Amino acid sequence: MDNYRKVLLKRFIAQEKKARWAIDSFQVTTLEELLDRATANVANQFKNSISVLLLTEEDYLVIKSATGLDINKVEHKRIPIGKSLSGRLVKRGEPKLFSDVSRITDTLDDNLEPYYCGSMISTPLVFNKKVIGLLNVYLPVPSEPFSFDDFNIVITYGNQTAFAIESQRLVDKRTEELKEAQARLVKLNEQLQQDIEVRKKVEEQLRKAEEKYRMQFEGALDAIFVGDAETGIIVDCNPAATRLVGRGKSELIGKHQRILHPPEEIEGELSKTFRQHLKEKQGQTLETQVITKTGEIRDVAIRANLLEIGGKKVLQGIFRDVTENKKAEEEIRKSQKVLRDTIDAMPFGVMVVGRDKKIKQANATARQLTGYGEGELLGQLCHQTLCPAEENNCPILDQKQTVDHSERKLITKDKREIPIIKNVVNLKLGNEDVLLEAFIDITERKEAERKLKQLNKYLEDTIAKLDRANNELKDFVYIASHDLREPLRKISSFGELLSTSLKDKLNDDNKENLNFMIDGAKRMQQMIDALLTYSRVTTKGVDFETVDLNQVVEELCAIELAVKIEETGAKIVTPERLHNVNCDPAQIRQLIQNLIANALKYQKKGAVPEITIRSSVADNSMVRVEVADNGIGIEEQHFKNLFVMFRRLHSRREYEGTGIGLAVCKKIVERHGGNIGVSSTYGEGSTFWFTMPKQEMRVKNEELQASIVS
Ligand code: ADP
Repeated sequence: MDNYRKVLLKRFIAQEKKARWAIDSFQVTTLEELLDRATANVANQFKNSISVLLLTEEDYLVIKSATGLDINKVEHKRIPIGKSLSGRLVKRGEPKLFSDVSRITDTLDDNLEPYYCGSMISTPLVFNKKVIGLLNVYLPVPSEPFSFDDFNIVITYGNQTAFAIESQRLVDKRTEELKEAQARLVKLNEQLQQDIEVRKKVEEQLRKAEEKYRMQFEGALDAIFVGDAETGIIVDCNPAATRLVGRGKSELIGKHQRILHPPEEIEGELSKTFRQHLKEKQGQTLETQVITKTGEIRDVAIRANLLEIGGKKVLQGIFRDVTENKKAEEEIRKSQKVLRDTIDAMPFGVMVVGRDKKIKQANATARQLTGYGEGELLGQLCHQTLCPAEENNCPILDQKQTVDHSERKLITKDKREIPIIKNVVNLKLGNEDVLLEAFIDITERKEAERKLKQLNKYLEDTIAKLDRANNELKDFVYIASHDLREPLRKISSFGELLSTSLKDKLNDDNKENLNFMIDGAKRMQQMIDALLTYSRVTTKGVDFETVDLNQVVEELCAIELAVKIEETGAKIVTPERLHNVNCDPAQIRQLIQNLIANALKYQKKGAVPEITIRSSVADNSMVRVEVADNGIGIEEQHFKNLFVMFRRLHSRREYEGTGIGLAVCKKIVERHGGNIGVSSTYGEGSTFWFTMPKQEMRVKNEELQASIVS
């Protein structure tokens, strides 16, 4: 800028010097003044003269100044070049002296016509061979015309004026240019000032940024090493860097960067990561290891960028110690493996499903149940593969249901549906929310349930049949008791009457036949009575109450069984006091009576019966009562048939009986929810036992027992 200014000034001063000379002679400062002075000067030379100065402007000649004439009154100040007198004179470019201008005919169209009445001198204003205007001088008052000397004076004035005009124009132009240049300079100066301000600000910002960077650099938690990109020499590092490798700053700066890494991380002169970051991994994070001063190996992640500082290329690496993270990751990896192995070994199906409904893991049992191979299930959508749920209709993720021990279906690879019981829990595996689904195949259980249902149905049918049979039996008993007993009684009593009245008239065979008939009718009556007793166990049973068995035995021996005991000389003992039981008093009496009566009856001829009665506490709040004898005993193969109605092991000739006593015992025991059985040694004696509810147990199970018909 300064140079330009100097050149401009120099040129201007040279030109100005020349122009000043011309202008100074007029002692004016502007072109207008100069023109006025020029016409005034010329007019002063000639008494009563008028001078007019015209300048060319493109195709016109314009009146600019006049002396002796008010140009404001001139109507047309612009004269076309080539037309009228002045127009032609300027075109011709030569000075001209007219003695009497009014003689010139074509002056009429000239604006100066009123003054064309005397002598006139017109001289072109020429500068550098170019006509720039016209100086006209008139002597309008009739007098002496202009002389030749006058003509020369005007020409000289014209030349001087032309030079002065151009000089003034040049000065004006230069002044204008100077002004412009100055204005430009001012503007440039302002610009420069602004630039300086901006630069100052930028420098300030840079300084602050540098300070900030320094602070961050020094205070960073991550280690930062700056190494020369060409040589690998460490040029800077922060306190965290010294802590990471356990070396002071002085032990690091100026050393080669490879001292930071263990040998296996070095490749040639540089560390592998330094090389990679320089080549193509700029700005990326690479994992490697560093070695501390004491030889400890640490895992680090390095992100590095290539920078230019003071024209030097450096690699700035930010090292983050990830040793603990790695350890933690390893721990997580291990525990995840343990979890996976555990899941895999579980005896029930287990699947891990992501929130995206994709299967992440399926254990061996799950694969075995579904028929998929290892890896075939991973990444599959669970609702399309294993669960019959439709898309976007997952019971857990979409319908927000809980699946807790719920019965569901599992689709196998061959599109079979198998019933399962399923538990689903939300679980966090690592950072991920997953569903842990556990399930067991319940096909067998379902089958068992189906069979159980069948069995129940069969049981219900059987009970219905038994009910029907029971009712039929009741009907039969009714008929037997009311309708059969009377005719039978008549047969036996009329038979006995006949036997008495025909006593001497019948031969021995007929007598015997008649006795058979009477005996048969009596037997029939006994059997019907026994049957009625059996039937009444359920139909005539009363509410249970506490019964003292000692008293029962005592009374039986004293009343119902007294005759037989006396006949046989039997010994009946109860070594310990018998327990109280909760039962129907008449029925327990009947039960014990039947057992003692059998013990008395089934004896070897002439033997003295010895009967022992004991009781003990049994399971399920029951009392076990045993009646042991020293009788004939029973072979084991007959044990189970003894309690069946009308089953007898001996003929009536050997031992009298109807074969219904033990059946009645069984029915009584079962009505009370107990059991009855026998143990025996053939030829030595038998022990009949039964169980009855204990005294404190007050169960009204009549209805239950009523449905059980032997
Ligand atoms: P009954 O005595 O009228 O024949 P039970 O029903 O009382 O009918 O007995 C059925 C059968 O059991 C008897 O016929 C007998 O053979 C056998 N029995 C019952 N009690 C004894 C016993 N204490 N010792 C040996 N046999 C017995």
